[in-house]
Amino acid sequence: MSSCSSDKSQSSSACNTPLTTAQQQAAAVGAEQDWAAAKAFYDNLVSTKRPRPALEQVNARLRELYPNDEELFDIVLMTNNHAQVGVRLINSINHYGLSIERFCMTGGESPIGYLTAYLTNLYLSADSEKVQEAIEAGIASATMFTANKDIPYCDKQLRVAFDGDAVLFSDESEQIVKEHGLDRFFEHEQMNENKPLAQGPLKGFLEDLGKLQKKFYTKDERLDCPIRTYLVTARSAASSGARVLKTLRSWGLEIDEALFLAGAPKGPILVKIRPHIFFDDQMFHIEGAQQLGTIAAHVPYGIGQKYNKSKPKDDTVKK
Ligand SMILES: [Mg+2]
Repeated sequence: MSSCSSDKSQSSSACNTPLTTAQQQAAAVGAEQDWAAAKAFYDNLVSTKRPRPALEQVNARLRELYPNDEELFDIVLMTNNHAQVGVRLINSINHYGLSIERFCMTGGESPIGYLTAYLTNLYLSADSEKVQEAIEAGIASATMFTANKDIPYCDKQLRVAFDGDAVLFSDESEQIVKEHGLDRFFEHEQMNENKPLAQGPLKGFLEDLGKLQKKFYTKDERLDCPIRTYLVTARSAASSGARVLKTLRSWGLEIDEALFLAGAPKGPILVKIRPHIFFDDQMFHIEGAQQLGTIAAHVPYGIGQKYNKSKPKDDTVKK
């Protein structure tokens, strides 16, 4: 994987940071308009103490196990800045000791069109409009929010936490909650327990992480795998949890930990997990995570977006 940087003194500019891999495994991280946000994100992926960042740790372990394999995390910095800004970006990257080798500077044009060419698995940016554009182009994408306080991150294991509905899965069940209420939702999920949910915008990224995890498993390093994934959902296990677990199984995907919160706030559990990044489609979960020090990324997808602007207090549905 990789990271991004941008030049804060350039008001029009930005930094888009795509996480992509050399040729197969690519993920794009972008942070438009705010180099500080991009750096904060990278620092957390990489750990602020910097003995060896989590991403670099994963790559180092992959190189040890597969010396001839180029399937590694790779970050591409994408910016709509002019190419002349590149020198300053390079200086900044060197100053902070970031491992970013690939840049895409588009001179004012949106960089979204290049994401496919860069084999992007995940695009992150501070610019929500660019993220929306990327989601509409079918690319896993999220808007970055930095945490309100610093908490230490694990530098030996990359931890990625996902919400379920409208993130890993489609928003079909979320629509039932929003339009018909919880009772109808419970009934619907039980009736459809054996019918897999459709995939959501970040399913592909979980799949990509799973492919890397399997490389460790096949070398008998399952217990010491440097990548760990988490499902952190407002659903309750008893009433609506079975369908999501069965859906993951039908996709052939594993999640290391599944946390069913039954409507409880996600922030405190995220403090325990200490993920390097947490993805959710609802802004009140993003804000709750942020307040307690988790780097959160908003996925602008599904019916929940209609409710994000007003952010009703009672929207913490217990599913
Ligand atoms: Mg959701």
